[in-house]
Amino acid sequence: MSGDDFRTRVVHSGLEPDPAWGSVIPAIHQSSTFAQRAVGEVVEDFDYSRAANPTRSALERALGDLEGGHGSAFASGMAATHALVTAACNAGDHIVIPADLYGGTYRLMDKVLSRWGLRYTMVDQTDLDALAAAVTDDTRLIWVETPTNPLLNVVDVAGVVARRGDALVAVDNTFATPVNQRPLEDGADFAVHSTTKYLGGHSDTIGGAVVSADPDWSEHIHLVQKAVGAVPGPFDAFLVHRGLRTLHLRMRAHAESAAAVAAFLRGVEGVEDVRWPGFSGMVAFRHPAAIRVAESTRVFTLAESLGGVESLIEVPGPMTHQTVADSGAAVPDDLVRLSCGVEAPEDLVADLRAAFAAAGVGTRVGAGGA
Ligand code: PLP
Repeated sequence: MSGDDFRTRVVHSGLEPDPAWGSVIPAIHQSSTFAQRAVGEVVEDFDYSRAANPTRSALERALGDLEGGHGSAFASGMAATHALVTAACNAGDHIVIPADLYGGTYRLMDKVLSRWGLRYTMVDQTDLDALAAAVTDDTRLIWVETPTNPLLNVVDVAGVVARRGDALVAVDNTFATPVNQRPLEDGADFAVHSTTKYLGGHSDTIGGAVVSADPDWSEHIHLVQKAVGAVPGPFDAFLVHRGLRTLHLRMRAHAESAAAVAAFLRGVEGVEDVRWPGFSGMVAFRHPAAIRVAESTRVFTLAESLGGVESLIEVPGPMTHQTVADSGAAVPDDLVRLSCGVEAPEDLVADLRAAFAAAGVGTRVGAGGA
């Protein structure tokens, strides 16, 4: 069942009560293979779980519904990115990627795909003229990440689409989620996710997704998914799907926390360049005591990843973005990245206030937040 409102679809997409038993949540089909009624006579195309599995298919229907296309689920965000790039590009093609982006995506382009003849150019995609100048006749794909990780730059997806020339446009929608941004509606060819993050939302599974509105591309992505086999197991697919059902509520709470945290940070001595795009739970700032602050929080856990209900803190330079820093791209050493969870915003602000104090940094009494 599916209503029109996004919030209703978040709760119901991909799910029908189990036809055999009536269970409101269908069983997790933890099976590698499926009995055939006769040779080649299978139930609804299910023959082997690398190709398709009912639990994964339910998640894929939901992902497709929420992004406005056809979804394919993968074992990780990186597996999804790899499948899309290898489906879309041939050896020798050129890709345009953002000047700041998730370190693992840069590593995939630089250390793995470049060995298969793929060439890339990094460009600040907030500058659409610079982007247009980087697109050549050989450019097959423009890879957009918005907001970017870790600098939280926001890219105008429709503006990129308008300047794409003959290139395909893929948008990593991990930070925004379809609650805040639907790239396919802006004319992009693909929306990509690390479902590990906000879509799963509970830091208990790794997964990824590619969604395309074009049935031919969806079929091709599915072919790569089946041929390579970087698929999530049924239980992981179930966890992402269960997380998805509260996405709209969680994203509102994440944004509320992030707004309070950003307001607080703007009043702290020595804090510079507080970044919060105005939605989602990601906040970044710079401070000379970045590492000491990150090591001093109690509610914010010092850990990589983001998008879960619990708050996380990290220093991208030596942590998630080591490989990008090696490229010479701008990831300042004193940058702190926060993933604000859905705890009480006052507790998050109090935690940061105490961490700054522990690091010997003054905070203005009553500055922002709580
Ligand atoms: N895209 C973005 C924006 C990310 O932040 C990450 C991981 O942090 C990925 C993709 C990769 O996802 P995964 O860790 O699920 O492979």
